[in-house]
Amino acid sequence: MIDLFSDTQTRPSTGMREAMARAEVGDEQSGSDPTTNALCERVAALLGMEAGVFMPSGTMCNLASILVHCRPGEEIVVDDQSHIYNTEAAGAAAVGGVSVKALPTRVGLFTLAQVEAAIRVPQRTAPRSRLVSIEQTTSFSGGTVWDVGEMRLIRDYAQARGLKAHIDGARLLNAVVATGISAADYAAGFDSAWIDLSKGLGCPVGAVLCGSADFVERAWQWKYRLGGAMRQSGVLAAAGLYALDHHMTQLAEDNANAGRLHRAIADVPGLGFDPTAGQSNILCFTVEALGIPAAAFAAACLEEGVRVRAIGTHQIRATANLDVDRAGIERAAEVIRTKATMFGQRP
Ligand SMILES: *Cc1c(COP(=O)(O)O)cnc(C)c1O
Repeated sequence: MIDLFSDTQTRPSTGMREAMARAEVGDEQSGSDPTTNALCERVAALLGMEAGVFMPSGTMCNLASILVHCRPGEEIVVDDQSHIYNTEAAGAAAVGGVSVKALPTRVGLFTLAQVEAAIRVPQRTAPRSRLVSIEQTTSFSGGTVWDVGEMRLIRDYAQARGLKAHIDGARLLNAVVATGISAADYAAGFDSAWIDLSKGLGCPVGAVLCGSADFVERAWQWKYRLGGAMRQSGVLAAAGLYALDHHMTQLAEDNANAGRLHRAIADVPGLGFDPTAGQSNILCFTVEALGIPAAAFAAACLEEGVRVRAIGTHQIRATANLDVDRAGIERAAEVIRTKATMFGQRP
């Protein structure tokens, strides 16, 4: 099976498992797990932030950030394809009493003008705008890479109006290897940012949320409240440290593989690509012109041992990851081409 469903499907490598087995551990909650502490310091330094906190998931990083930055009745601004809006079980609303303004976007990128229009003038009748979140790279929109200049304009505009600025950096490091712009440059000036360890980096679990020391102290309190405080988490943190040492080159390979897949199927009649397609490790395309639902296209590919993900009615998402090598990508391209041609020739 060639599994392009998601980079979350990656399994810990042998080397990673060995590092986990060897990990020095202590009690995370009392700050005495040395491996977890080392991971937090490492990621904070990588993002150029004062401090970091190890979280069980990226979802908890987003939620804890929203809970620290916002009070009930306030509002956050995100894109309408975002993970926060679509796949976090409405945590902001359910746990934080925070409403979500989702800006319409094509590939997950909103503009400064949209943010200007979205931030509300403070008045008694309106929710108070409190946070803008940028997803770098975009997940459900095909791994689009935000321009760092645009991110900074939006950050500055928001902060000048009393909002906080947050980066959902689940795949920030894919943007880093795609552009050569450092994670610290991307995160500079933002109030919070995090990276996921369980996507392309290949860890079984975990994410690290960073910000000022004060922010992280308050995020820690939410980690406790939400049940995310662990004990000998060094076993998991060791996987993260191992990934940062050994899997960064893999992210570049994943980006390259998504680009290869894109080039190999870009001319297939009936498949539609955005001009931004193939910027990092996720490739989205529409099968709308073939007149079949994305789910049917995904099922047809699966019959040939290629697993892709149907997103919405017409969109297919293929995510390059460390379990699929170049030959696997070539095979996937062949299957996608064959299936599209088959569906395209139906009367
Ligand atoms: C995967 C993902 C998350 C959530 O991370 P988990 O570790 O799976 O909880 C949040 N945002 C984006 C953009 C993601 O891709």
